Amino acid sequence: MKIVMLGAPGAGKGTQAKRIAEACGIPHISTGDIFRSNIKAGTELGKQAKAFMDQGALVPDEITVGMLMDRIHETDCKDGYVLDGFPRTIPQAESLTEALSRTGEAIDAAIDIEVPDEDIVLRMGGRRACLHCGATYHTCFHPPRLENICDHCGHELVLRDDDKPETVKTRLEVYHAHTYPLIAYYRAAGVLHEVDGTKNMDQVFAEIREIL
Ligand code: AMP
Repeated sequence: MKIVMLGAPGAGKGTQAKRIAEACGIPHISTGDIFRSNIKAGTELGKQAKAFMDQGALVPDEITVGMLMDRIHETDCKDGYVLDGFPRTIPQAESLTEALSRTGEAIDAAIDIEVPDEDIVLRMGGRRACLHCGATYHTCFHPPRLENICDHCGHELVLRDDDKPETVKTRLEVYHAHTYPLIAYYRAAGVLHEVDGTKNMDQVFAEIREIL
């Protein structure tokens, strides 16, 4: 099962992708997480990506596509994967389609989590992340047990630079200009499923389960 998650930043792709991955026994691949771990490790890739990410811009396709291709060719991906945050542009989607078609494969489902822009702005301002283990929380919708402390590893939670209000505005503009057209792309491919992302996490997951 090869699944692509679509939706604006903050729509809940990461949360749902993790649950799908667990339920289907396939890896959850987040390009944002791969970039962040490279930044943390101080790699060349991380240095290149950071400048774009901090501004809310997309990391160029030349960097992102190669990185994703390497990841999906690892052995744990042989039975499929959930892609979260990739593709984010039409050229990225085309590269993926082309790479898969070489071995007679294709994306099985593209799940679009729909949330209006106003809700996205509210949601992202409340997001908190643990830079140590990658866990994510929300001050209202998914608070940690102890204020601002990660439930899993006890480290302090932070508001990521790319969740700051000025960056959120840019990220939404980038989403509408570059990523939104992927909905039509996957609809044309006959694999698009739309779910209402304004419902609570469990309801959204139940809808996705039905689809899968
Ligand atoms: P995310 O954690 O998915 O919200 O991604 C955080 C940031 O990483 C984005 O705002 C982009 O700067 C960068 N990024 C993640 N995935 C991609 C991608 N597929 N193409 C370009 N940039 C990406």
